[in-house]
Amino acid sequence: MKIPEKMRAMVLEKARQPLQLMEITIPEPGPEQVLIRIHACGVCRTDLHIVDGDLSKPKPHLIPGHEIIGTVVQTGSHVEKFNVKDRIGVPWLGYTDGKCYYCKRGQENLCENALFTGYTIDGGFAEYAVADQRYCFPIPEKYSDVEAAPLLCAGLIGYRSYRMAGEGVEDLGLYGFGASAHVIAQIAIYQGKRIYAFTRPGDVTGQEFAYSLGAVWAGDSTKLPPDKLDAAIIFAPVGPLLPAALKATKKGGTVVCAGIYMSDIPSFPYHLLWEERVVRSVANLTRQDGEELLAIAPEVPVKTKVQVFPLEQANKALDNLRKGKIKGAAVLKI
Ligand SMILES: [Zn+2]
Ligand SMILES: [Zn+2]
Repeated sequence: MKIPEKMRAMVLEKARQPLQLMEITIPEPGPEQVLIRIHACGVCRTDLHIVDGDLSKPKPHLIPGHEIIGTVVQTGSHVEKFNVKDRIGVPWLGYTDGKCYYCKRGQENLCENALFTGYTIDGGFAEYAVADQRYCFPIPEKYSDVEAAPLLCAGLIGYRSYRMAGEGVEDLGLYGFGASAHVIAQIAIYQGKRIYAFTRPGDVTGQEFAYSLGAVWAGDSTKLPPDKLDAAIIFAPVGPLLPAALKATKKGGTVVCAGIYMSDIPSFPYHLLWEERVVRSVANLTRQDGEELLAIAPEVPVKTKVQVFPLEQANKALDNLRKGKIKGAAVLKI
């Protein structure tokens, strides 16, 4: 396939301003990199936090997007894992140094020198991207491009959060029923767990969506569920949900904060935390999380509900996400 010189891309020139559609030079792959012709790229809440300036210091002239599905069109001199024509996925974790304190302890998600796709390196709101082969995954055939895209972050970070909720969980609460929750709910139900879905007050369509996937209960996040939870995962970036989730959780239960950003957590009485409840956050992903999720997803099989936008409408997709108007996951088809 002949590779053109230029590509269209949606570029972040300044925080809190719409992305600009630009024509830019297609990057050349370095020794460990592949050049990918992008077919689809998911739009994640983290993209919104970057565009809105909640996450500071993105790469200048950033192309956002870290749920990339595409075909390899060129390989760097050291690439062995993939060949031209392979369909692969590129996640949020784009590079680690492999030698810092955290990498040596198997916590590459916490690497001191990590680079992140669509944040500190260019991502997938474009026709082409380069990516370090070591952090890319083959994509199960079962999924179309747009269906696979949300698995790469919503699915992956969700899966890591789900693992961190601990062993022996039967009643699991999901606060914020968006892209991540709809993937994790399906895996959890497949594994015999009961799902309680918490949405913004009055979000009846969100609650119906949760019931349609098999949740045993869905309701407002301000309400207590009918049964106490063994664990809860908070996907919505809303600090007051933390004491609300603790209140809904059994003794010894875990509350996992899945997001990269959350508004301030209000002070709350110690007794909500006492009795060995645990609060923890989840940061990024490891390659093992990716391999596990992409193995289990087709077994369940996880079906992703997507709302598709063309590349030029990335701003509209972000805006709908900001307003909570996306059911499932937003994906750009490129
Ligand atoms: Zn490291
Ligand atoms: Zn994401």
